Amino acid sequence: MPTGSRLESGGLSDAEALRRLTDDGPNAVPAAAPTTLVARVLAQLRDPMILLLGAAFVVVLALGDVPDASIIAIVVLVNTSIGVVQERRAEQAMAALGRMAAPRAHVLRDGRVSDIEAMGLVRGDVVRLEAGDVVPADLVADEAVGLEVDESSMTGESVPVGRTVGEELLSGTVVTKGRGWGVVVRTGAESGLGRIAALIAATRTEQTPLQARLRRLSRQLVMATAAISFLVLALSVARGVPFGDSLILAVSLAVAAIPESLPAVVSVALALGAHRMAKQSAIVRWLPAVETLGSVTVLASDKTGTLTEGRMSVQRIWTPDVIEESTLLRDVVLCNDARLTGTETDRTLIGEPMEAALLLAAADRGIEAVELRDRWTRVDEVPFESQSRHMVTVDRAEDGTMLEVVKGAPEVVLSMLPEDAGRSRDATVAEDLAGAGFRVLAVAQRSWRPPQERPESPVLVGLVGIADPPRTDAAAVVADCRDAGIRTVLITGDHPATAGAIAREVGILAVGTDGEVMDGAGVDRGEHVEAVDRIRVYARTRPEQKVDIIEALKARGHIVAMTGDGVNDGPALRRADIGVAMGKRGTEVARQAADVVLADDNLRTLVTAVGEGRRVYANIRTFLRYGLSGGLAEVLVLLLGPFLGIPFPLGAGQILWINMLTHGVPGVAFGGEPLDQRDMRHPSPSPERSVLGGGLVRQIAASGVLIAAVSLAAGLLAQNQGWHVQSAVFLTLGAAQLGLALALRAPRRRWSLAGRGIELAVAIALLLQMAALWFAPLRGLLGTAVLEPQTQLVLLALACLPGLAIAAGRLIGHLGRHRRVR
Ligand code: ADP
Ligand code: MG
Repeated sequence: MPTGSRLESGGLSDAEALRRLTDDGPNAVPAAAPTTLVARVLAQLRDPMILLLGAAFVVVLALGDVPDASIIAIVVLVNTSIGVVQERRAEQAMAALGRMAAPRAHVLRDGRVSDIEAMGLVRGDVVRLEAGDVVPADLVADEAVGLEVDESSMTGESVPVGRTVGEELLSGTVVTKGRGWGVVVRTGAESGLGRIAALIAATRTEQTPLQARLRRLSRQLVMATAAISFLVLALSVARGVPFGDSLILAVSLAVAAIPESLPAVVSVALALGAHRMAKQSAIVRWLPAVETLGSVTVLASDKTGTLTEGRMSVQRIWTPDVIEESTLLRDVVLCNDARLTGTETDRTLIGEPMEAALLLAAADRGIEAVELRDRWTRVDEVPFESQSRHMVTVDRAEDGTMLEVVKGAPEVVLSMLPEDAGRSRDATVAEDLAGAGFRVLAVAQRSWRPPQERPESPVLVGLVGIADPPRTDAAAVVADCRDAGIRTVLITGDHPATAGAIAREVGILAVGTDGEVMDGAGVDRGEHVEAVDRIRVYARTRPEQKVDIIEALKARGHIVAMTGDGVNDGPALRRADIGVAMGKRGTEVARQAADVVLADDNLRTLVTAVGEGRRVYANIRTFLRYGLSGGLAEVLVLLLGPFLGIPFPLGAGQILWINMLTHGVPGVAFGGEPLDQRDMRHPSPSPERSVLGGGLVRQIAASGVLIAAVSLAAGLLAQNQGWHVQSAVFLTLGAAQLGLALALRAPRRRWSLAGRGIELAVAIALLLQMAALWFAPLRGLLGTAVLEPQTQLVLLALACLPGLAIAAGRLIGHLGRHRRVR
């Protein structure tokens, strides 16, 4: 509990806090004004492909071709609505994510400390601060014990500065050391963070690398199509077709060849991917992480609480001959910030798990922390830090006796003791404990009674071996990662022997080898750079060395996900391709530096999220394969038709109609396709690489040619049989593209109706396609004609062929790969 002058009141009452909240508004940066519908529609209309259609509309209308003009209008309308609706869905999903990752604060109200969303803080609230917290509003320190903050987010100056009682702490700065309490003086837009955020609120959300790459691809396609359209225009005019009609044909072709729903598909695939991840407890804080997740090749995991339970228990207590066990226990209780509450049979532990374990061990042996701390008053302390690996406290007894206790990693504590025979024996005992897999603490003390001087150096009072068993599913998660093509490495501040023992238990180190462990000193010497592909465990590392390790891995072309929790893990989390923080256990700093927050603190969730990432990537590629094959087929039909004796294989309106059906509805459905389990065996290619790589271009060419072939065959057959040629080509081309959509679906496990988006979309599109032949008004608009039912069946059968061929090809490909794997 705080002891500062203004804090005895127990903080604001809930009622008063609520009143102030309604008066002053929430403690949040004012959100940018929501995009209006008009702005959204305008944004869609600014798309180059839509602009092209707009131009076409004007040309066509000027030429007096009302049917084609109305088709273009319909296409624009449908496309814009799909775009607007999808974009809204994507934004809503992202907004929901933003709320889930909202910062939190510990506030004292009505005499109780509770964990609330920082948004609910008001002026006068009393807030607890500890290392790793992000200051949630502008505060004035009311109690400060070794409190230091990093103000680099405000000032750019990254040297931490001390803060004492009465000094201000700005919102958004980070507590790097110590602890304390502060009283809120300004919230929301008034606060430090609010003032900065107001300046940058206007900036737009950035594109992800994949979005940028696809935008470039679209632009290239527009150029290529423009060239082809010119060719078609020239050929058409050369054959004596009036210029106006030729122009309409060329423009329709240009429109058809471009998958204009591409931007919508990508943003939806990403946002829905993030949404699905969130439902499975992986909260993505930065959209590009969705596409990078699937490509992760190395998982750099911390140990405590991630691979281990983080639920510790004291297993071994060792003291030198001259020291009583009770002395050791007293010292670890005093040099300790945890608390035990509840009854003897039902204890609640508050604070760091390891410190709580020490209190519990003492209590089991009859030493109660509460009693002890009543008799001693803490007068000084140096808080624990992973850099220094130890902490120090100084207490005064009622009779004036002073007691200084040091507790920490054995190497650190033993190095403070005088050098003698005892010290090397102590070190051996510590080594043995670490080798048995225990996390080891050494405890030393010195005591004196003023005016007596403080003794020269402390004496060792004992060693404690603490067990932190691996999580029950840690080995399975490591194995799953390996199956998915991801290597797990362990990075810890713990002793090499302790780390190695855990690494062997969970399968990071193969049993019987210990050559692949490196300690922080090796990293300092730069030895990890050469060996980075062999090292599986990094022990006794300081947080800043994690950055070096990540750099070395990235230099080898790895995509690195890193877990981290500590105050000092921020830089490494930011440097990793995917920084991962724990939702419950981690510090606020780690959470805010991370790309992904695991709300359930479970590493398995990360594997699930990787699967979702691969799914998103695969779906975008499938959509490209689908959309570009269709466009290619349309181009081929128009270009080759005349050489085969079909001068006008398709009318302009027909092209646009097919295009709208095939891309609009099934195209968007591809964003929701489930994960093909086969994609779980290897990482997706890095988002830096071309999305069309890995044989996609060849596949697009193959399916485009197949679809064009059956469509042209349909045209020839129609000529032969005296059917309406354009209608035959129109039906076959459209239906064949829908067949391809079915062939490219991800395989389903069961015949359930859920997740049948593609089938449903194909059915709707097919109905619309047929409607263009069945209904007189549409026939008038599109220039199609009645076909006999048998004829329709023959053509539909023909249209099935490319899809069947592609499906068979995929099946054979998978079987072949399967055999090779075995
Ligand atoms: P990790 O979280 O990777 O296991 P830490 O940096 O937390 O490693 O701890 C490193 C070492 O510091 C531990 O092995 C232990 O010896 C010591 N240590 C950890 N926590 C405390 C603490 N609260 N007080 C004193 N020493 C500690
Ligand atoms: Mg730790």
